[in-house]
Amino acid sequence: MDAEAIRRSLESSGLRCTPQRYAVMAFLLERNEHPTAAEIFEAVNGVDPRSSRATTYNNLRDLVQAGLVREVAVEGRAARFDAKGLRHHHFICDRCGNVEDIDWYDVPKPASGSLGKRILRDSELIFRGLCTKCAPRQASAQRHKRHGRVNTG
Ligand SMILES: [Zn+2]
Ligand SMILES: [Zn+2]
Repeated sequence: MDAEAIRRSLESSGLRCTPQRYAVMAFLLERNEHPTAAEIFEAVNGVDPRSSRATTYNNLRDLVQAGLVREVAVEGRAARFDAKGLRHHHFICDRCGNVEDIDWYDVPKPASGSLGKRILRDSELIFRGLCTKCAPRQASAQRHKRHGRVNTG
């Protein structure tokens, strides 16, 4: 997305395109690794030291409320943020907490009876397990354990 497209998407969501807000959006769009609010602040502050932590966090909240940025909740860790327009699911690594995108496919909606009076806006999946970096380590740790058992048993 170029600068003009970012400005347009902010304004069509009813947000003024301030330099700080633009910087948050631009940073998120060029990232794949779902940064935390603290990481976004550091990056934006590195480019423009006038943007305070409070301003950055407020901008982030505005972008989430406007639907331009998604907040990915990771239990026990800081929330991660994602500005990619394309729908996708997420994979969260149990070991390193890495949040990765999984290509979108349609998810069956829950039966209307189970929702009661709730109004469903969207649904997406979170897969959990070990990422490609952590999976081989787990496999080799298990191999070592098996070996140990054979040797001592
Ligand atoms: Zn991992
Ligand atoms: Zn994502």
